[in-house]
Amino acid sequence: MKFCSTHWDALRENIKARGLWDFVSKDGAEAGRKMVAKQEANDKGEPPTAASFDPLLLAHMNIVSAYIEDVGINGMVGDKCPICEVEKSRAGLGKEWLDGSCDDMLRIAKHFKLIATD
Ligand SMILES: [Zn+2]
Repeated sequence: MKFCSTHWDALRENIKARGLWDFVSKDGAEAGRKMVAKQEANDKGEPPTAASFDPLLLAHMNIVSAYIEDVGINGMVGDKCPICEVEKSRAGLGKEWLDGSCDDMLRIAKHFKLIATD
């Protein structure tokens, strides 16, 4: 599974539009560190911090999960874009996922006071 460039850009723009871009990893190495930090925090029951929160990565994973839940594990096969695929069967749902996953990230960032709440 791989987002097409149109939908990858849309996801990035959604994160930017919500003021969360500063939390996005600058490269793969940082993304890896954040994933490890997030897992360690989860294991200890600690809240996310700027060192573990990557809204782009998390929004992406949430969309992939929603897609797999929707179409089953076969959805993993090939390089299909989950948003393009879901839009084929239910127009509008992909956009809902793109917006909803980023709204969730904004809620998390506010809830854990990673950004100002008003
Ligand atoms: Zn697409």
